Amino acid sequence: MAPEEAKKEQKWINEQLCVPMAHTCNLYCVYCQNPPTGAPASKVETTAAIKKKRIKAVSLEGAGEPTVSRDFFDWIAALKTAGVRNFMLSTNAVALADPKFCRRVEKAVDYFTVNFPATDPETYMKATRSVKFTSAVKGLENLKTLGAEHKLRLFHIIFKGNYRSLPLFADWVIRNHPGLAFVNFTFVRNSGRVNDSKDIVPRYRDAEPFLKLALAKLKIKGVKAVVQNIPLCRLRNFEGFSFEFQRWRRGDQVLEAGIMEKAENPACGRCPLEPACCGARTDYLKIHGNKELISSGKKLGSIRPEAF
Ligand code: SF4
Ligand code: SF4
Repeated sequence: MAPEEAKKEQKWINEQLCVPMAHTCNLYCVYCQNPPTGAPASKVETTAAIKKKRIKAVSLEGAGEPTVSRDFFDWIAALKTAGVRNFMLSTNAVALADPKFCRRVEKAVDYFTVNFPATDPETYMKATRSVKFTSAVKGLENLKTLGAEHKLRLFHIIFKGNYRSLPLFADWVIRNHPGLAFVNFTFVRNSGRVNDSKDIVPRYRDAEPFLKLALAKLKIKGVKAVVQNIPLCRLRNFEGFSFEFQRWRRGDQVLEAGIMEKAENPACGRCPLEPACCGARTDYLKIHGNKELISSGKKLGSIRPEAF
């Protein structure tokens, strides 16, 4: 993609509005932060508000999987009529296994964020409680066949059932989707279905070595990656991959809107990295305590951001 085009794309991605049109799901992820309610959003009210605010870019998401809503394409049509020009879709890719449906979606959507927690059926089952691994893989392959791999961000939630496989996940991406936009590793949040479970939320320090190996593998092969919701002191020498650090560098609020604030910690109070760090949240500390947070001797200016 030409630099000018990439700049335009980054601009609308940064400015997009979330449209919570999903209300049911074809998976049942153990770590789901925002489980389906079964109550659909009002298309009329949503599109009227979007028209009034002159919103030009949206992300289709919500409590559930957007592609299983029967009126998925009606939503897109209504949003286009309201003036929306760019669409991002947050999906688990299962429905994209149907090539005809995938082609239609690919034509309508500019960017895909795919929740993909595993590269083997067993781990996928642990994460999603479903046997739809093959369909999700097929959905990703269909996007690739359509030439849309560069429009793909793989969203990999790190939880207790997959953290040891992070390097294998990196190998799989390198082998199968080296042309994707980037991989987003996000540490599971203790909310929604997680419900204070130590069986779902690992300790940062347990996931750390596996995550670093995965990041190193991807970097060597030129595949971009970011890490979300892991404190900078648990990314020592890999701090430049931190999504929150990248946000701080470009002058944005470190935590995205709607994300729970970081908890106060004695170590953070004397840490020079605090302004650019996501810290730990109270929901994590409730399970594992704060012993893993260690004030850094580094200066923020000495951290080199990774390509993202
Ligand atoms: S995390 Fe996403 S794919 Fe999984 S159950 Fe929740 S809404 Fe569905
Ligand atoms: S001590 Fe606190 S502020 Fe410093 S890197 Fe760790 S979590 Fe972030």
